[in-house]
Amino acid sequence: MSQPTLDVLNPATAELVATVPAASAADVDAAVTRAAAAQHPWAAAAPADRARLLRRFAAVVDEHIEELARLEVREAGHTIGNARWEAGNVRDLLDYSAGGAERLLGRQIPVAGGIDFTVLEPLGVIGVIAPWNFPMPIAAWGLAPALAAGNAVLLKPAETTPLTALRLAELALEAGLPEGLFQVLPGEGPVAGSALVEHPGVAKIVFTGSTRTGKHIMTRCAERVKRLTLELGGKSPNLVFADADVAAAAAAAPLSFLDNAGQDCCARTRILVERSVYDRFLDLLVPAVAAVVVGDPADERTQMGPLISAVQRDRVAGFVDGGRGADGVRTFLGKAPEGPGFWYPPTVLAGVSPDAPVAVEEVFGPVAVVLPFEDEQDAVRLANATDYGLAGSVWTRDVGRALRVGQGLRAGNLSVNSHSSVRYSTPFGGFKQSGLGRELGPDALAAFTETKNVFISTEA
Ligand code: NAD
Repeated sequence: MSQPTLDVLNPATAELVATVPAASAADVDAAVTRAAAAQHPWAAAAPADRARLLRRFAAVVDEHIEELARLEVREAGHTIGNARWEAGNVRDLLDYSAGGAERLLGRQIPVAGGIDFTVLEPLGVIGVIAPWNFPMPIAAWGLAPALAAGNAVLLKPAETTPLTALRLAELALEAGLPEGLFQVLPGEGPVAGSALVEHPGVAKIVFTGSTRTGKHIMTRCAERVKRLTLELGGKSPNLVFADADVAAAAAAAPLSFLDNAGQDCCARTRILVERSVYDRFLDLLVPAVAAVVVGDPADERTQMGPLISAVQRDRVAGFVDGGRGADGVRTFLGKAPEGPGFWYPPTVLAGVSPDAPVAVEEVFGPVAVVLPFEDEQDAVRLANATDYGLAGSVWTRDVGRALRVGQGLRAGNLSVNSHSSVRYSTPFGGFKQSGLGRELGPDALAAFTETKNVFISTEA
C-alpha cells in the first residue's frame, strides 16, 4: 500500500507547494521509541550544556529567518512582515528558554526532623499538536521550554502547514541537537495526532487548536491521566469607553481583528463601544478598515493576506451570511483580490443581535461585530457573555476604570489602550473554554516537569 501524503497549497494562489508523507500510528510509535532513547541522556546532561545547545539552535534559526519566513508565506499565506516576526519569535523563545535550564529551581521547605526539598524533573516525551494559524510560534511555545526542561518533543503540525516545522527539525540537527530529541510528524489529526494522545510513552500533550478538538483530546487524556495543556479558541472583546482617545481606538481596531486575516485566537472580534460615542467610532472605523491593504502576502506593503483554505473561507462566509440576515444589520466591507486563492474581504457588522452566532462564536476570519453598551457594568456583562475567555482590550483614559473593568473581565490576556497579547516573557492562556494551563513567561519550563518532594531525616 502506498504511503498517504499531505498536499500543501499556497493559500494566495491555490497552487500546490509541496507534498509530504503523512505519519501513521506505526510511525508515531517508532518516533516515541527514538525520542525516549534521546531524552534520557538529554535530561542527564549538565543544564549549562542543554542551554548552550538551545542557544546554538536559536542562532541557526536566526541565520535562516528569511528562508523560514518565505516558507511561511508560501504555505500559510502570512504577510512577509508577520512571517519574519514569527520566525524571530522561535529564535527568541529558544534563547529565553535556554536561560531557564539553569534556573529550574526547587524549594527547601522547613519541616520537623529533617530537611525537605523539591526537585523539578522532566516529564519525558512531550507531544505538541499545533494548528495552522501560527505554525512556527505555537510549535516553539511547546518545543523550547519542553527541551530546556530536559524533555524530548514530538511535534505534529497541522495538515495544511507542515513545511516550517520540518525545516525547524533540520535546523535543530544542524545546530547539534541529538538525533531523535526533536522530531516532526506531519499527518492527519485523527491518525498521527490521535496516536500521540493514545501512546503510553507520551507523558504530556500540548494542544493548540479548536475548542471542539481540545475537548475530545481532554477526554482521551483523562482516561490515562495524561498531562495536558490546552490553548483553544477565543472571541475577544475590545471595549471602547467614551472617555478614551476614540480616534486612537478606531485607528487601532482594524488590525486587532484583521491581522493574519483574523485567524488569530486573540482577535478582537467583538468591538463594544459606549453608546454616546458609538456613531462617531463607527464613522472612524469604517474608512480605517477599508484602507487596510489586502493582497499578495509576499509584498512588503500588504497588511492582510488570504485565509488558509477554501473550507475556512466557506465557514467564514456562513457566519457573515447568517448574521447579515436580520433586520437593521449594516455590513461594511473592505477590498480583497478576486481570482484564485482563498480571499475574503475585511468585514464589519453593526446592528447584529448580541447573541447571534457571529457575535459569540469564533469566526476565525476577518470579521468583527460592533455593539453598543450603556455603562461600565453593561460593558463587562457583554464582554463576558461568551464561552471563551482568552484576551480582551480596554480603551479608556481613566486608570481606575481600566483596573475595575480588568478585574471584571474573565479572560487570561488583557491590554489597556493597546491590543498586544503575546510576548515570550509573559504568561499566555485562556479562562473558561479558551483553555487550560499557561504557556510562555517565567513559569513555562515548570509546566514540563513533575515536582518530586524529598525528605531526609536528620535523626540518627
Ligand atoms: P483543529 O482543532 O482543527 O486542529 C488543531 C490540530 O489538532 C491540528 O494539528 C490537527 O491535525 C489536530 N487534530 C485534529 N483532530 C485531532 C484528533 N482527533 N486527535 C489529535 N489531534 C487532532 O484547529 P485548527 O483549525 O487547526 O486551528 C484553529 C483553532 O486553533 C482556532 O479555534 C483557534 O482559536 C485555535 N488557536 C488557539 C490558540 C491559543 O493559544 N489559545 C492559538 C492559536 C489557535
